[in-house]
Amino acid sequence: MLKIRYHWNNKRLPIICATSTRIGGISPNPYNSLNLAYHVGDDPKNVAENRKRFCQKLGIDVNSLVVANQVHGDNIEIIESDQAGSGAYGTNDAISSTDALITASNAVSICVMTADCVPVMIFDPKTPSIGIAHAGWKGAVLRIAQKTVLKMKSVFGTQPSDCIVMLGPSIMPCCYEVNDDIIAKFDDEFGISTCTDGKRLDLHRAVKIQLIEAGIKSENISSDQTCTACNLNLFYSHRAENGITGRMMSLIKLL
Ligand SMILES: [Zn+2]
Repeated sequence: MLKIRYHWNNKRLPIICATSTRIGGISPNPYNSLNLAYHVGDDPKNVAENRKRFCQKLGIDVNSLVVANQVHGDNIEIIESDQAGSGAYGTNDAISSTDALITASNAVSICVMTADCVPVMIFDPKTPSIGIAHAGWKGAVLRIAQKTVLKMKSVFGTQPSDCIVMLGPSIMPCCYEVNDDIIAKFDDEFGISTCTDGKRLDLHRAVKIQLIEAGIKSENISSDQTCTACNLNLFYSHRAENGITGRMMSLIKLL
């Protein structure tokens, strides 16, 4: 049975917003079972079937997906209705070299793929518009989440104080020890509170700090604190599975 983490489903907001788990697909080890990424070495036929199941469960069309080839950078693309389906069935026609997507169209489901990085989903009910970003440690230091909000502000007239933000499941400080250089970057940029015990990163906290600096209200940010690396029955973890694994998909769509 396919399992999904729904975000905001109790609040009756006019959006679909969810993160997949690894449960309910057809991919064999090490991609077992609901791998939703084409770029990790899994059989494309399995990925196509898994995406079909995930979309069916959410009640959306696979042809509405917009997926980017992510590069741990800070490029943000504005997505229009006629880009629906980009990257839906493979990587060749995916949005190139981009880690965040924003749109005001209800014809597209904007997505990011993760296995430890933080999926950041942003909803502005006023304009209305949405954004999604992929923030690993590089993206967090580049302030991709903050830049995505500010891009929504410049393109759609979004007021950050109106926005609701969800941080999906990622690797947590319990499992995310990094080298001193990276710790120093986070200490400089976001303060020592993002460096648990001085050696382990708290990505959610670093993302939350930059969102608040952009004008998002703290009480409007939700954070799924379930660690991907601690829960390999439920999630993929790039670190805990030594880089050979599948990806979850996080998705947001205006209704
Ligand atoms: Zn953990």
